[in-house]
Amino acid sequence: MHPAVVVVGSYNQDYAWRSDCLPQPGETRRALGFATGPGGKGYNQAVACHRLGVSACLIAALGDDTLADLARRHAQHEGLACRWQTVAGTATGSACVLIDADGQNQILVHLAANERLDPAFVRARREDFSGARVVLAQLESNLDAIAAALDLGRACGALCMLNPAPVHPGLDAALLSACDLITPNETEFAQLLARFAAVTVDAQTLAARDAAELHALARRLPVPTVVITLGAQGCFVSHAEDAARAAHEPACYRLAAEAVAVVDTAGAGDAFSGALAAALSSDPGVPFSAAVRHANRCAALSTERAGTAAAMPTRAEVFARFAA
Ligand code: ADP
Repeated sequence: MHPAVVVVGSYNQDYAWRSDCLPQPGETRRALGFATGPGGKGYNQAVACHRLGVSACLIAALGDDTLADLARRHAQHEGLACRWQTVAGTATGSACVLIDADGQNQILVHLAANERLDPAFVRARREDFSGARVVLAQLESNLDAIAAALDLGRACGALCMLNPAPVHPGLDAALLSACDLITPNETEFAQLLARFAAVTVDAQTLAARDAAELHALARRLPVPTVVITLGAQGCFVSHAEDAARAAHEPACYRLAAEAVAVVDTAGAGDAFSGALAAALSSDPGVPFSAAVRHANRCAALSTERAGTAAAMPTRAEVFARFAA
């Protein structure tokens, strides 16, 4: 069966430590807990789709080490279809995650094999793209491979979606323009504005700005639809005039975050992008605003659990919590 969502992205093994507060430079603190599990923006977003009952497939690169074996076992246990490229002589991606008592985090990521994902490997998977409704990528992989994925997505008539995280130094206007939809968080949105519109904004002030101002800023980027995730402030949607008219949707609006008991916000952005891709793929007639509301709910639920991929909610969990 052809997957409805093709995710082209990273796999990283997460190593996560909980602490009362994050250490200052030069400081050593006692951790309150430790866990390791599967992660990486590509893997997390593919798992988010899969747990919501959407057929998803991940195309990603692994090293030739024991972490690669672990990644394969995690995916098999999850039941997620993966096309793994093995990069000889290279480590599998890994991430160090520090989480404080408020659920805030600091992350250091070693992308390793992810940066060697080969565009030829992606193109060889053309068959997987042929029935896809959404192609979803992030920026933890080699940019040429991401460009190849977006090209294939466009050729196959899929919606091309990019979670521009973390903003890559080599990201150019051509790659951004190849997307129908992007989902930056506040920091990434500010970085994209600086890079592609020569506009300087303080990321910390974005959530407090009014809708007209955020919309005008989003329209400076060469992408028809921009969804800015605003953490505990929810998210903001901005469509270009044509995109709004075609979807019969308002050009811009804000959505408040759902009330949840936050444990760990790591992976919330991945839950959001994965769930948005899932909603947009499962029913082409779903109003965009309903898909965003679903993503906002899934992302909120993911913050109530520790871990990244492990924290993605299932379809049943989302309906049980938000049935009304
Ligand atoms: P990232 O993890 O990429 O930095 P955000 O922090 O913007 O992304 O969070 C992504 C989404 O997760 C938000 O748009 C919101 O839907 C949800 N979310 C994040 N933090 C909270 C929170 N404290 N309460 C409820 N929802 C949240």
